[in-house]
Amino acid sequence: MPENKKICPKCGQEGLVFKVRVIYLESLEKLKNGENAKTPELDRFLKESGQSGKPKAEMNKVLRDLVQQFGPPSGKPQVLKTISPDMVVVVFSALALFILYQIYFTQPEIFWYMVALFVIFLASFFIFHKSIIARFQKQKSMDSGSIDVIQKAIGKWMKVSYCLRDNLIFEPGKNETAPLNELTRYLIKASLPE
Ligand SMILES: [Zn+2]
Repeated sequence: MPENKKICPKCGQEGLVFKVRVIYLESLEKLKNGENAKTPELDRFLKESGQSGKPKAEMNKVLRDLVQQFGPPSGKPQVLKTISPDMVVVVFSALALFILYQIYFTQPEIFWYMVALFVIFLASFFIFHKSIIARFQKQKSMDSGSIDVIQKAIGKWMKVSYCLRDNLIFEPGKNETAPLNELTRYLIKASLPE
């Protein structure tokens, strides 16, 4: 599939414009398959930036840098935080009942003391239930919000182009630009909710 060449908003030319996503993917491809890799966009980029024909070790370093610089934005999924506090209490209570049962037979002298602690724990959980759940819901919506932002940022990453002449990135059709080393910041900023 031929990539549409787009015009750089800074220099108004398209000769040294490259697709960020394609440079990234082709760099990975070339790291993996070396000379056998079919990487037309990357080869043109290396030629125009005066980096083609380097020895293998040096070339691999260039490619690894490109993977770093042109890679998509990423975010850590936070699975643990989405476990409901209610679930935690149910599991904890089951465990506590089992431990109480053990204590009843092995250390009867502290049994009622432990029962009292358990009851206090459950009582305070129910007293503060509303605010605990509210905090959990807030955290959960913040997490899914940040996942949305990352997804949107990756969508933008698929579209952005890079002008080698000006060393900047831009979204074709838009006038905003940013230096290449601010790629992730640019993508995240453009993806934040208004
Ligand atoms: Zn330009």
